[in-house]
Amino acid sequence: MSASNGKSNGKVVPAAYPPPVDSPKEFVKRGLDGEDELIEVGVAIVGGGTAGLACANRLLQLLADDPDLMERLGEVPVAVIEKAKTCGGHNLSGAVMRPRALQELFPDMSREDWRKEGFAFGEVKKEAVYLTPTSKLHVRIPVPPPFKNHGNEIVSVSALARYQQRQAEEGGAYVLTETSATQLIVEDGRVVGVRSGDKGRGKDNEPLGNFEPGTDIKAKAVVLAEGCWGHLTGAAIREFDLADGREPQVWELGVKEVWKVPKPLDRLIHTAGPWPAKIFGRYGQVAGTWLYPMKDERTGEHLVSLGLVIGLEYADATTSVHDMLQAFKLHPLVRKILDGGERVAWGAKALPGGGYWSMPKLSMPGAVIVGDAGGMVDTAALKGVHHAINSGKLAAEAIYRGLKNGESGFESYEYMLEDSLTGRELYEVRNLRQPFQKGFLKGGPLVNLAIATRGKLPPGRLKWHRNDEKPMFMGNTWKRYPRPDGRYTFDKLSSVFITGNATRDDAPNHIRVQKHVPREVAETWKWMCPAGVYEIPEDAPEHGPVDVIVNYTNCVQCGAITAKGGRLTTPEGGDGPLYQIT
Ligand SMILES: Cc1cc2nc3c(=O)[nH]c(=O)nc-3n(C[C@H](O)[C@H](O)[C@H](O)COP(=O)(O)OP(=O)(O)OC[C@H]3O[C@@H](n4cnc5c(N)ncnc54)[C@H](O)[C@@H]3O)c2cc1C
Ligand code: SF4
Repeated sequence: MSASNGKSNGKVVPAAYPPPVDSPKEFVKRGLDGEDELIEVGVAIVGGGTAGLACANRLLQLLADDPDLMERLGEVPVAVIEKAKTCGGHNLSGAVMRPRALQELFPDMSREDWRKEGFAFGEVKKEAVYLTPTSKLHVRIPVPPPFKNHGNEIVSVSALARYQQRQAEEGGAYVLTETSATQLIVEDGRVVGVRSGDKGRGKDNEPLGNFEPGTDIKAKAVVLAEGCWGHLTGAAIREFDLADGREPQVWELGVKEVWKVPKPLDRLIHTAGPWPAKIFGRYGQVAGTWLYPMKDERTGEHLVSLGLVIGLEYADATTSVHDMLQAFKLHPLVRKILDGGERVAWGAKALPGGGYWSMPKLSMPGAVIVGDAGGMVDTAALKGVHHAINSGKLAAEAIYRGLKNGESGFESYEYMLEDSLTGRELYEVRNLRQPFQKGFLKGGPLVNLAIATRGKLPPGRLKWHRNDEKPMFMGNTWKRYPRPDGRYTFDKLSSVFITGNATRDDAPNHIRVQKHVPREVAETWKWMCPAGVYEIPEDAPEHGPVDVIVNYTNCVQCGAITAKGGRLTTPEGGDGPLYQIT
């Protein structure tokens, strides 16, 4: 396979059509503006998701007992910069959470309190795992260790982030919502702040009547908590060579719905495929699904979270997670759970899939990386929420100690993390997921070996291959997708509609892709994008290059395009979905 001409046995490699991006020039600003043109804060946290807000909350707890340091950090000791309309607006997860990290962050709260606050929906008491060989059959299997969830809590990370935002604001944080951080500011080899994006630019980047330029935000410490895929994190990784000697990062994409149902679901359910993915290795599809029961204590309503996640190492260009999830809902196992119910939420998001070996170095002069931005997800168990919280908390503790001692580096965070439950859990599953790159059937036995030996075998470091270097071919997965009926199954645009997506029609394009690409690449983007952003004109040639239309205002910022040959950059603050309960 050669990525240089993008072809391999008639198949096409998206990496051969890289996005028009010059990261060091565009996303790194060399030096701060003059003192009277910038905002100065103590600690700047980029990303008001679970990880960033855990960091803010923990820092404020420590500062509350240390008025001297609080004062030294100035008028704004902690600032959180979040691009969504409100914290939680861009956060999505399954989500069944291991509770310990949140209990440690808010030790005075009980799990009953979590439910009363509206971000937790019950403890897992019963669970079941099924294989789904076909669209009609399911076979119950003993619960494999990564799927064991007894005692965990079902949460909504979107609602959790809104709760954490309130806590942070009460503790004295300045939360700048509707604000994208667009550039990392580096001076003398050290991160000294971030720049917020301009607002009020038109389609061609021209300033409109309401134009407001961005501002440099100078900080003594910067925390990159951007989730997956991180715009400034990517720039920092290049700038400071943080991924040197690591495996490449790979990604997975999940689509989720929340349904209000008349009858409560009495257990947590996972299915491990192979259907609705294809079982044969040449398709490269490895997918899993979930159904989580949610009881809203405040309204008494019974809800179900359901979703499908697929590794973006797949090779069939007609793979669409959105449509696979629609097919999944028609499986008899699922259909009877949703019967008489109503879809109340939808969303999509990518997650880092490489695990331990793909994590970048997590600190650089002046800054640290937390949560999904640092790749802290165990994708076999589909668990990252507690790692996001734990890493945010540990980063806060390392930064607090560093600032107190007048240090400018926060390397101790890396050692603390490695020694914590996050380091230990991710190390144990370090080689668990890679064998599936050979497909569901060939990879299965090695995956089982890794589970049975708790990570001792296979030995060494198993390799990852970049998702965008996978040769794509035109397959037939699309034949499995049902027609939308508007009752159980929906098309992409009606799904985007219920996210409350508020991107201006005349906003500048934040999606960077080459627009004249081979059909296989264009089809990959068209089918993959859960929001229907990419279109191929009807009169485009059947073979050879085609012109792609990019309807970027539909984008829900899931990040998947970055794995398959494009680049999501930060849109104007406030654009994108407004998730409530995802
Ligand atoms: C489909 C799916 C299912 C999952 N299921 C589970 C599960 O059941 N259990 C579990 O434990 N884990 C699960 N995970 C993983 C878990 O959701 C994540 O690990 C966790 O939510 C990551 O939190 P985070 O704060 O690091 O990132 P995010 O939640 O992504 O937060 C990042 C925040 O930063 C903001 N941001 C990013 N860049 C900028 C910028 N430049 N400027 C301003 N703001 C910015 C974003 O808007 C966002 O609010 C799942 C993930 C997915 C995608
Ligand atoms: S265009 Fe937006 S929604 Fe579509 S794949 Fe890319 S990042 Fe996701």
